Amino acid sequence: MTTASSRPSALIIGGSLAGLFTGNLLLRSGWDVEIFERSPHDLDSRGGGIVLQPDVVELFRRTGGDVRHLNLGVESRYRTVFRPDGSIQSKHFAPQTQTSWSLIYSLLRSAFGDEHYHQGVALTDLEQDHAAGTVTARFADGSSRTADLLVGADGGNSTVRTLIWPKAKPDYAGYLAWRGLILEEAMPTVARAILHGDFGFANNRGSHILGYLVPGIDNDMRPGHRFYNWVWYRVAPDALLQEILVDRDGQRRIAAIPEGRPAEKWIAYLRQDADSLLPAPFREVVKATPHPFMQAIRDLASDHMVDGRVIVLGDAAAIPRPHTAASTSKAAANALALADALERAPGIDQALARWEPEQVALGKALLRQGMQTGTYLMFHAS
Ligand SMILES: Cc1cc2nc3c(=O)[nH]c(=O)nc-3n(C[C@H](O)[C@H](O)[C@H](O)COP(=O)(O)OP(=O)(O)OC[C@H]3O[C@@H](n4cnc5c(N)ncnc54)[C@H](O)[C@@H]3O)c2cc1C
Repeated sequence: MTTASSRPSALIIGGSLAGLFTGNLLLRSGWDVEIFERSPHDLDSRGGGIVLQPDVVELFRRTGGDVRHLNLGVESRYRTVFRPDGSIQSKHFAPQTQTSWSLIYSLLRSAFGDEHYHQGVALTDLEQDHAAGTVTARFADGSSRTADLLVGADGGNSTVRTLIWPKAKPDYAGYLAWRGLILEEAMPTVARAILHGDFGFANNRGSHILGYLVPGIDNDMRPGHRFYNWVWYRVAPDALLQEILVDRDGQRRIAAIPEGRPAEKWIAYLRQDADSLLPAPFREVVKATPHPFMQAIRDLASDHMVDGRVIVLGDAAAIPRPHTAASTSKAAANALALADALERAPGIDQALARWEPEQVALGKALLRQGMQTGTYLMFHAS
């Protein structure tokens, strides 16, 4: 049933970044909001670096964070490109701030609070009552909830998207990303001297690696306590990807394997390839990283984001390739525009009709940009 309150109500499926962006903004606009996250655990071990973009800073500002006093990331100074032999191909001053998935998640998670954040609850089905302007979510535990709006913020394999637009599926891009985090103080000496503090890159045939410093454990930004974050893109035919996606317990994963889960033979393979493809500082850092993890690179930009009172946003709607460094800021932009549209339009349906076209266009523009960059880096540059 809908709540007895006269306030509009939203059910958000997925309690990661897109879900928390939307939930925090709607809460502050006076909505009743419930977030349902499938994972029974806190998500803060997901790790990984993220380039801090203005939409994310704006989102913190609007959710009550005093951004002048929030330390949101670690600064890098130069962008340095290394040749495979370790010599420098180019170096230019391009300061930017890198943050981490964990930092954004933990700040927004505590801003939202626990009362309306439900862990271990997976959406399995939904039903709309178009006459009443409501939507009912059904969950794996047999429970159901009804509200004025349902937001699918449930990621690249979105159940909400699959239920409404089953043909909109991510396509494998033909390459994957091995990723890793290593404590700054555990970086091998040569790697630390050469890579530390800058945004580093290196290309080789079918291989593109980059790395930078990000906040450490519990968002620690003190020198010596941060992580070095690297992302190593490798061309891999689909058959190889499918083999890598079988984890160390023999379980098949859909598109990613988290820290500690890849089968041991793939870690050995990764370290062996580091010897032949990477310049010395990156080679050392990859080989010294205790728990690399893997993500297939996929393309998606849905033609639709609204169906009645059901919407999708974040990765559920569009997955730009990581070269754009824009997925998180796109999720923030989707949520900011939604909150603005709902505040300005006379009703929810009018707001959604205004919101959808620009957000679909944003997803498609980022998809094109990421495909162009990725195709060049992975299949033409070396
Ligand atoms: C290699 C790589 C590098 C990246 N680098 C960057 C970067 O530099 N900058 C950047 O902006 N972004 C980057 N990203 C992308 C970024 O991590 C995501 O775009 C961002 O976190 C937004 O994700 P999301 O919240 O939409 O989806 P997700 O983080 O996938 O969250 C979806 C959530 O929904 C939950 N869920 C799924 N199904 C259900 C269900 N049925 N019921 C309930 N809950 C459900 C899941 O458990 C999950 O918690 C990178 C990604 C990759 C792969």
